[in-house]
Amino acid sequence: AHALVWFRRDLRLADNPALLAALDAGLAPVPVYIHAPEEESPWEPGAASRVWLDRSLRALDADLRARGSRLILRRGDSLAELERLVAETGAVSVYWNRLYEPACIARDRRVERALRALGLGAESHNAALLIEPWAVKTGQGEPYRVFTPFWRKARQTLVDVRPADAPVRLPAPPEGLASLEADGLGLRPPPGQPRWDRGFWSFWTPGEAGAQDLLEAFLDGAVHGYREQRNLPDRVGTSRLSPHLHFGEISPRQVVARLRGGEWPAELRQDVEHFLGELGWREFGHHLLFHFPHMAQENLDPRFRRFAWAEPDPALLAAWRRGRTGVPLVDAGMRELWATGWMHNRVRMVTASFLTKNLRYHWRHGAEWFWNTLVDADLANNSQGWQWSAGTGADAAPYFRIFSPPAQARKFDPRGAYIRRWLPELAGLPDEALAAPWEHAELCRRLAPDYPLRPIVDLKASREAALAAYSGAGAAA
Ligand code: FAD
Repeated sequence: AHALVWFRRDLRLADNPALLAALDAGLAPVPVYIHAPEEESPWEPGAASRVWLDRSLRALDADLRARGSRLILRRGDSLAELERLVAETGAVSVYWNRLYEPACIARDRRVERALRALGLGAESHNAALLIEPWAVKTGQGEPYRVFTPFWRKARQTLVDVRPADAPVRLPAPPEGLASLEADGLGLRPPPGQPRWDRGFWSFWTPGEAGAQDLLEAFLDGAVHGYREQRNLPDRVGTSRLSPHLHFGEISPRQVVARLRGGEWPAELRQDVEHFLGELGWREFGHHLLFHFPHMAQENLDPRFRRFAWAEPDPALLAAWRRGRTGVPLVDAGMRELWATGWMHNRVRMVTASFLTKNLRYHWRHGAEWFWNTLVDADLANNSQGWQWSAGTGADAAPYFRIFSPPAQARKFDPRGAYIRRWLPELAGLPDEALAAPWEHAELCRRLAPDYPLRPIVDLKASREAALAAYSGAGAAA
């Protein structure tokens, strides 16, 4: 008998519990992907996520074909398509891996109930997290709101993590079972539209093999000295696994097992532990979103309910988006994002602080732009990152943490290599002028005539104004 394996953001064959469960039950899995972006509304996948997904689905199909199967692509209402596929294949049950966004949880519950009502098996598994969001509780039985105790507890569960290998062969789905072409999902920019993603693909290889290659490259390279190097945006000092983790092309369990399998010298253990802690932040983000599902739109800290955000000036918001603020580290980050679909974490914090503190725009404006432009756009991590930066989150940066972009540039990009890479119009300036070119107006007029002479907002005055507004909101309490 057949079983449907409903792929969503678990686009891999190794360590895929839903796929394995179907095989273990002695059923022939029919791999299915149903494109139904409306069901994730209001957070339908953004443009950068869609172009990634397009490639990831093609990679999954190729991996399935290499094992004798193929991916059945459909589009439309998930439940209606699953029911249709059950009728077409005679499948007796449906297997999938869980998602944790509120809209997906609601949809999946509805699907599960409907399938069971039809007398079908409906079974979900955990493929995305090291530990389920409901499995970690404080002594009082409450969800955690602070990272450190959360991770101290969750970290203890990471013993004997054994991801499963990919099946070597898979049965072919029933002959003649209809599938859309990948082009039929409309994930790529339509013909005639600018191919803004063209620059992405020298940086990224979506799919399971690309994810494994990055993990191995990380273990050979950036994990050494990760604790220090991870803050330096001009180099490959981190794993860049975030989009692969988001789409489930690799599981955190696989990453952990590979990290712990190494015979690490004593000095590397701290780097490995620090990296595990970053995976812990990912777990924490999902924990928060599960327990506080409003956090994608609303401040987690209720003291900000009536906070006096500034009404965005469309020209200034556009300058931030396109990297034309006149503040080099901010602009370099925003251009890296546009060109590659990714931005270094240190610079994400600086650009977010600039938007929410110096411009004092609601973090949602930033979260929405990131949502559309990041290939790793992830509702849990993005909401957490923005609320942390804005100071409105559960375990947020203190309100007086307002990053000074020039100070951050001097500290983490001291030779200006990152700024020069993304802002070629500043390449001719001497190193010491790159962090705050407006302090060298004469030089800039001569050597960087194409760059704004002054920042769109006075950094010092806006910092003072933000401090006053934040302490007025009671955030200082
Ligand atoms: P590494 O340093 O190699 O870390 C390994 C993995 O740990 C990452 O792939 C990621 O899954 C996880 N991780 C690392 N840092 C964090 C963190 N601070 N919070 C949660 N998980 C983390 N991350 C996303 O995956 N999607 C987002 O939409 C996203 N939006 C963000 C928005 C803002 C304003 C900020 C400040 C951070 C955001 N982050 C987001 C977190 C972080 O910037 C990225 O996960 C990280 O830069 C990815 O690069 P990496 O894979 O090389 O990280």
